[in-house]
Order: sequence, then C-alpha cells, then structure tokens
Amino acid sequence: MIDLNTLVRLNIQKLNPYKSAREQYLGQANIYLDANENPYKNGVNRYPDPQQKELKTLISKRNDIPVNQIVLGNGSDELLDLIMRVFCNPLIDNIIITPPTFGMYKVLANTHNVEVREAPLSANYNLDAGAVLELVDDNTKLIFLCSPNNPTGNLLNREAIKKLLCLHCIVVIDEAYIDFTEQESWSKLLSQYPNLIVTQTLSKAWAHAGIRVGMSFSSSEIALQIDKIRLPYNVNSLSQQKAIDLLMSPLQFHKDIKAIIDERSTLLDALNTIRVVQNVNPSTANFFLVQFNNGNKVYQFLASEGIITRDFSRAVGCENSLRIAIGTPAENRALIQSLKKIEQ
Ligand SMILES: *Cc1c(COP(=O)(O)O)cnc(C)c1O
Repeated sequence: MIDLNTLVRLNIQKLNPYKSAREQYLGQANIYLDANENPYKNGVNRYPDPQQKELKTLISKRNDIPVNQIVLGNGSDELLDLIMRVFCNPLIDNIIITPPTFGMYKVLANTHNVEVREAPLSANYNLDAGAVLELVDDNTKLIFLCSPNNPTGNLLNREAIKKLLCLHCIVVIDEAYIDFTEQESWSKLLSQYPNLIVTQTLSKAWAHAGIRVGMSFSSSEIALQIDKIRLPYNVNSLSQQKAIDLLMSPLQFHKDIKAIIDERSTLLDALNTIRVVQNVNPSTANFFLVQFNNGNKVYQFLASEGIITRDFSRAVGCENSLRIAIGTPAENRALIQSLKKIEQ
C-alpha cells in the first residue's frame, strides 16, 4: 500500500497554508471590503476565485473526476513545479525521467536541486520498465512519464506503465497530447492507483496556450497537498472566464482536432516521399519527430525559408531529428515544398 506520509515532504505535511481573503469568507455578500481592492468596476478590479469553482466543476463533469481530485495551474508547467516541490527534498531525493522526453522535468529538478536519473526509452522510443526499476531506490519520489511522448509522438506501452505504478513512488503521467489520441486517459484508473498523478492542459489540442490553464488529476489526498502550496490566485480571472467559455461550447474545438488528425496522415504520407527524410516516428500527437540525413542542415534551410521547427538533432536518441508540429493544410504544403527544394 502506498504511504503518502513517507512520500510528501515533512515540511509540506506540516505546512499551514496561506488563506486569502476570498477563502476566509465563502458566502455571498453585497459589500466586499476584505481584500483591499479598488471598488470601481472595470471587469477585473476584483481578485479571481481562488478555488476556481466554476471552471473546476466544468472540468469535473467533462472528465468525470470529483472536484476534490483536481488542481488547476497556470499551465501544466506550474503543476509539474508544484508536484516537484510537494515530494522532493533538495539534495536528498531523486526523480526518474525517460529521455528523449519533455525537457521541463529535468529543468525543474535542477532548479530545486533534486537529482535526475535517466532511463532512456528503448530503440523504438518505448518505455523500458526494467531500465527504470534499476534506478529506483528509497529516495526516488517521482517518475515522470509523458504519453504521448514529447518529442517522439508515440504513446508509451500500457503494461510497462502499470509495472511502474506498482512501485512505492509517485508516477506522473503527462497527458498534454492525450486529446489527439483514441486512448483512454490514465485518469480513469485513479481509484486503482493512489500514487498516480495525471496532468493535462488546455494549451495543445484545446488551442488555448495563451491563457495558461493546466490541470492535475490525482487522489484527493495528493490534490490537497498540491493545493496547499499553490499560490491562491494562480489562474487569473480572464483565463478562468475564457476556459469556462471554451468548455461550455467545445464544438469548434472538436472540429479543429479532427482536422489536425486528418492532416496528420496526409503530412505523414508527404514526408515519406521526401528523399532527405530517413524516418518519421509514428505519432498519435500533433507533431512528428522526423529524422533527416543531416538534421541541423535541414533546420537551417527551413529557417531560411521562414519555417521554424524544433531542432533535436543533438539530443540523445534523436540524432539528426527535428520535431515538426502539424500546421494548417497550407502551412504543411509550404513545409513539403521547401523540403523538396533540398532534393534539387
Ligand atoms: C506543452 C507541454 C506542456 C506544457 O503545457 P502548459 O499547460 O502550456 O504549461 C507540458 N507537458 C508537455 C509534454 C508538453 O508538450
């Protein structure tokens, strides 16, 4: 059985969280003189709802997860940072990552002076549970898994993930790209795995990167600990309202995702006809990791054509590869036209 008391840092367990004015009084009133706000209305003169009740209720309904198991962040990046701070004692604990993967996990660990252990993905970018198991010790607090994985685009093997979920540490599954896949979210298994945290975001499929709204799903006990160290007004009122509007009418969003998924197979076929393309990794996300004969040269050439991709050509396991997001059909055609020029 998982014992949260041995996983959550002692200072966080003991922490008495800050109570904002809006949290102390929860009823409705006519006159608010409790938060030193300017009383003259302009739409944003009041502090945002620190509990994010309306937005959380919508997310709770859509994902079928109780409100007390949800924490919202200023992007899921903020939640990853909070998770790091809840569980990892600097200079004592360690985390495990599976490169090539999202760069933020390592940066956060380095920021907090937490040791990073690396269990590389296998040859076809799949999760190597054995390699992770070899690195786990009593001070391993977090295992970060990204599925679909950034920058490779593939989902990680479910059976391998289940093996890691049996360990006595927290498994964070970053599902930033889950809405591009057919696969069920791991959040459906929260009741089975008390050490599981799933993060999602409105930034990618939901097309709202600019408002910075991310979410974590976990047991209510873990959610409570994360919530304790969350700054009270971390999601501003404009972002909360915009996210509420989005979730109230998600129709356009569904259409856009379908268009991107359709475009994914068109772009894959086109990339496979390009001579300088060595390999396109199968993707269930909205980008491809594409290996070229000379990745950096292709990157420079595309940039000179005004097309910016992400250069991973020097990253371990991604030699000569670029990560290329799926754009509009016109943007993808321009990409292919430019790549064809290299052949001439
Ligand atoms: C984009 C991305 C994020 C960050 O999402 P925000 O909610 O915008 O902070 C997290 N994880 C992965 C894997 C990403 O690609």
